[in-house]
Amino acid sequence: MLIDSHTHVNFKDFDDDRDAVIKRCLDENIWMITVGTNAMHSKKTVEMAHTYPEGVYAAVGIHPHDSGATEEFSVIERLAEDAKVVAIGETGLDYFRIEKGEESIKKQQQELFIKHIELAQRIKKTLIIHCRDAHDDLIRILTEHGKGSDGQRKGVMHFFTGTQEYAKNYLDLGFYISFSGVLTFTHDYDELVRMIPMDRILIETDAPFVAPVPHRGKRNEPSYVKYTAQRIAEIKGLSFEGVAMQTTQNSRELFVI
Ligand SMILES: [Zn+2]
Repeated sequence: MLIDSHTHVNFKDFDDDRDAVIKRCLDENIWMITVGTNAMHSKKTVEMAHTYPEGVYAAVGIHPHDSGATEEFSVIERLAEDAKVVAIGETGLDYFRIEKGEESIKKQQQELFIKHIELAQRIKKTLIIHCRDAHDDLIRILTEHGKGSDGQRKGVMHFFTGTQEYAKNYLDLGFYISFSGVLTFTHDYDELVRMIPMDRILIETDAPFVAPVPHRGKRNEPSYVKYTAQRIAEIKGLSFEGVAMQTTQNSRELFVI
């Protein structure tokens, strides 16, 4: 069994065959967490999670690219209470497209991110965090705001492509690190994968984006998470079954599935 810890089967790319894709995946014994990026998509992830008796779970949040949509946050707060919602996100910081002179957008992203952190703490759910070109600010915010009432910080750095140094920071803060299909077409992160203990690794597709080898350039789907598990097994010199079992257990613990 495998769990794709981050997929967007809710996106329009799957409008024609969503149910077939999900059923194919569940038939292979691969479960998934479908992740919202705004109010509309978050609503959809919750609906989808309720369509299947097991194996499909939801995350609700506003992506940093949509940080202007602060009025949508009340919808997220309401959805978050649903029993099928296992995480708050994706949320976080993304400075990649921010030009000089647009510093106010950074502030806006930070404020919305802190709201997501506080919501996750309030209802005791985990965080799914997106970060691009913003690790210093993100680590600072998690250090200042990230501690839950039980003294624990809980969450995952999704689609992690940062440095080993940053990964160490996140591990020290108690976070998991999630790897995508990127591992199947570059060796850039092999060292990083070797460094991170197996009990802190999650796997994901981020479908429909970034399909792994052997489906490079096509639409990604959650069942392809097996290729990432396979690569982690190769890099770490473990069996595929061992990686499947451990990453599934990690996801079940973190998301309380
Ligand atoms: Zn995503």
